[in-house]
Amino acid sequence: MSTFSMALGEDQLAVRDWLHGFAADVMRPAAAEWDEREETPWPIIQEAAKIGIYSLDFYAQQFFDPSGVGIPVAMEELFWGDAGLGLSIVGTTLAAVAVLANGTEEQIGTWAPQMFGTPDDVKVAAFCSSEPDAGSDVSALRTRAVYEEATDEWVLNGTKTWATNGGIAAVHVVVATVDPALGARGQASFVVPPGTAGLSQGQKFKKHGIRASHTAEVVLDGVRIPGHCLLGGKEKLDERLARAREGARKGGKNAAMATFEASRPAVGAQAIGIARAAYEVALDYAKTRVQFGRPIIDNQGVAFTLADMRTRIDAARLLVWRASWMAANQQPFTAAEGSMSKLYAGETAKWVTAQAMQILGGNGFTREYPVERMHRDSAIYTIFEGTSEIQRLVIARSISGLPIR
Ligand SMILES: Cc1cc2nc3c(=O)[nH]c(=O)nc-3n(C[C@H](O)[C@H](O)[C@H](O)COP(=O)(O)OP(=O)(O)OC[C@H]3O[C@@H](n4cnc5c(N)ncnc54)[C@H](O)[C@@H]3O)c2cc1C
Repeated sequence: MSTFSMALGEDQLAVRDWLHGFAADVMRPAAAEWDEREETPWPIIQEAAKIGIYSLDFYAQQFFDPSGVGIPVAMEELFWGDAGLGLSIVGTTLAAVAVLANGTEEQIGTWAPQMFGTPDDVKVAAFCSSEPDAGSDVSALRTRAVYEEATDEWVLNGTKTWATNGGIAAVHVVVATVDPALGARGQASFVVPPGTAGLSQGQKFKKHGIRASHTAEVVLDGVRIPGHCLLGGKEKLDERLARAREGARKGGKNAAMATFEASRPAVGAQAIGIARAAYEVALDYAKTRVQFGRPIIDNQGVAFTLADMRTRIDAARLLVWRASWMAANQQPFTAAEGSMSKLYAGETAKWVTAQAMQILGGNGFTREYPVERMHRDSAIYTIFEGTSEIQRLVIARSISGLPIR
């Protein structure tokens, strides 16, 4: 008997509807204002915390949903509400995933709750991997972590860039190189606890989209952290470095890549939320806007575009759900299915939102209607968490078994 099903269960539907309500009632009405303000929307994060959407428990529950689709369903609804606000609410999870993926149980228990704070005193967290000279090429990180045996401390020096919540976070997770000669395999992830001296915010970026989400440089100047802030612990790191020095190919997965692998389908689901939102606006508009004496949807040119928009959105969701199901059910990604899902969903969001602007005509080009913001927001989805080119590189290597450059 087949057990295959694409249907969401009762609990999943209830969570989806609950998030949809928050997205529609709290996020949508605030979206344009925070986009213009280009500031972290603390009141919105706090409202999300008060009802349990911004909490470790909530994300852990969705993460451990055995079907795998808990996280993608949640992401799609929140980003249907608004992407800038959505990223402000879920940006912390990137750092949380880094701790979950690389930390010991004790480290998870210590740091994950501090990343979110409490509903009365919300905090955010940042994951700092990218550097000015190491974006797509994560093996080129220059930030150094040096261990001091006498004090059992790590000393971090370097400059991180593009960090979501960088500088305003309570907890920063920093990827640094311990042995530069080993490239990506010489790196490790560290927790920088709240208030640690030597960590400061550099430039805050003014962006094209997702403007409510804070993106900044993080400067690490002689940052001293206790030995227990190395995620996974020193013994595990020493073993890993020894294997890498012996030239062993197995087990050399680096910390940053482990985080990205786990988060790519979730990021794809965010892009789908934006695409679905823009598609819905365009569909409504096409049914009501009259030109030449009939609704513009009566023209095949418009109706077929809407048909393609919906088809691509549904196809992207299927790829995201497949990758999420595979990850939750320990199925190996033999064709980089996680990268595939993020690649297709990101490209879909950019294309769908551009079509939506076209269908709205002049109105689509103004800030009176939300699709121009959705189009600006969608553009990051072919850039962060690995650009579309890098996703294609990963897929090409995976399907060919060749070191494609
Ligand atoms: C808003 C925002 C938020 C971000 N948040 C975070 C965060 O929280 N934490 C974090 O660590 N980073 C974050 N990033 C960084 C993001 O992941 C990087 O911007 C991204 O990985 C690309 O790196 P880059 O910008 O240096 O571009 P580059 O790597 O310089 O790429 C430039 C262009 O060259 C192409 N390219 C590069 N190498 C190849 C290749 N081998 N083959 C084909 N094409 C190639 C790229 O696809 C791209 O089109 C964020 C970035 C932005 C803009």
